[in-house]
Amino acid sequence: MNLLSAQTRIRNDDIRAVMDRLRAEHSDDEIDTGDAGRWEFRMHYGSLNAAFDDGGVLVRVAAEDETCLSYMKMIFAGHIAAHLSTTECLRWQGDGTDAGTPIFFREISVLSSTRLSPHMQRVRFSGRDLGRLAHGGLHVRLLLPPAGRQAVWPTMGADGLIVWPSGEDALTVRVYTIRALDALSGWLDIDFVLHPGAETPAASFAQNARPGDVIGMIGPGGGGVPEARNLLLIGDDTALPAIARILEELAPSSSAEAYIEVDGPEDRIALARGKNIAVHWLYRHGREAGGAGLLPAALRERGHPADDLHVWAGCEFADFRDIRKIVRKEWGLPRDRHFVTAYWRRGAQGGDGGGDE
Ligand SMILES: Cc1cc2nc3c(=O)[nH]c(=O)nc-3n(C[C@H](O)[C@H](O)[C@H](O)COP(=O)(O)OP(=O)(O)OC[C@H]3O[C@@H](n4cnc5c(N)ncnc54)[C@H](O)[C@@H]3O)c2cc1C
Repeated sequence: MNLLSAQTRIRNDDIRAVMDRLRAEHSDDEIDTGDAGRWEFRMHYGSLNAAFDDGGVLVRVAAEDETCLSYMKMIFAGHIAAHLSTTECLRWQGDGTDAGTPIFFREISVLSSTRLSPHMQRVRFSGRDLGRLAHGGLHVRLLLPPAGRQAVWPTMGADGLIVWPSGEDALTVRVYTIRALDALSGWLDIDFVLHPGAETPAASFAQNARPGDVIGMIGPGGGGVPEARNLLLIGDDTALPAIARILEELAPSSSAEAYIEVDGPEDRIALARGKNIAVHWLYRHGREAGGAGLLPAALRERGHPADDLHVWAGCEFADFRDIRKIVRKEWGLPRDRHFVTAYWRRGAQGGDGGGDE
C-alpha cells in the first residue's frame, strides 16, 4: 500500500521533555526499533516516527490517505500545543494540504426529518463526496452554526491544527454516529436522541430541522464495527444508532448479544434480526437517563463471559465507569477485547462524555 507522509523538524530547548511525555502517553503504541535515537509508534490513524540528532527531532507521520494523515498531524500538533504552549516550531512538509478547508470537513444539508420513536429523531442529510465516511470510524462531529448567522467554517493552520471560528461565529460541536449511509445516492442518516435539558443545541437542531438547513461535519473517526466472533453490545439511547449499525454489519459467522437501555417499550426501534442476535431491552420507565444504573446491573446479573467474548459499550459517564470496572476488573477482559466509552455526561454539555478506552 502506498502511504502518504509528512515531516517536520523541531528545534526547541524543551522538545526532548515534550517527546518523553509523548512516549509515556503512547507507550501502548510504541514499536521497538532497537535504536535509542529513533522511536516509532503505530496509532489508530497511522504511524509516527521520531529521529533525534543534534538539530533537535525530525518527526514523520504516515497514513493511508489524506484524512488520516491530517489526523496524525493534528495528534502530534495537539501534543506540542499542550506541552510546549506554542506550535510556531511546527511546519509540515510532504503530502497533504495545511491551509484552507480541512480535507475531513463537509457541509451537509437536511433532506428530511422523521420521528422514529418518542425520543429519537432521524435526520437525513445530503452531502458531497460521502464515500470516505463508509470506513475509518462510525462517528462524526457535527458543527452547528450560531442561530441567525451565516456559518463560518473551520480552516487548517500551517501547524496541522484546526483554526476554529471564534466570538460570534463560534460553532457548537457535538459527536454523533453515522447510522446509515448511501454514498452513491449522496445521503447519510443521523439518529438524534431528544433529551431534556435547558440548552440542548444538537437535540433542538434535530427537533426543528427543516429541509435545506445546513450544518458542518468533520470525520469520520473513532472506532469502527468491531470484528469479533462473539460480541456483547451495551448501550443507552445514544448508542442505539451505533448498536443498530453494528448489528446490521455483523459478519454471518459472528454472534451478538445486546443490552439496550431506553425509556420505555415505545422507544424500541427495529434492529437486524437473526439466529445469532439476541437483544435485551431495559426500560427506565420515567427515571432520569444516566441515573437508573440498569446496564451495569444487567451485566452483573448476566455473569462472567465466555472466553472469546468481545465487549463494546457506549453510555452515560457513571454507567461507563461501572461497566468498565465490571469488564476489566471483575471479568478480567484484556484491553483488546473491550471498547467501553462514555457518550455523554449528566450535567455536562458537549457529548464527549470524558471517558474513553
Ligand atoms: C462517539 C459518540 C457517538 C455518539 N452518537 C450519538 C448518536 O448517534 N445519537 C445521539 O443522540 N447521541 C450520540 N452521542 C451523544 C451526544 O453527543 C450527546 O448526547 C450530546 O451531549 C448531545 O448534545 P446536545 O447539544 O443535545 O446536549 P448538550 O448541550 O451536550 O447537553 C445539554 C444537557 O443535556 C444532557 N444530556 C446530553 N445527552 C443526554 C441524553 N442522551 N439524555 C439525557 N440528557 C442528556 C447533558 O448532560 C446536559 O446537562 C454520541 C456521543 C459520542 C461521544
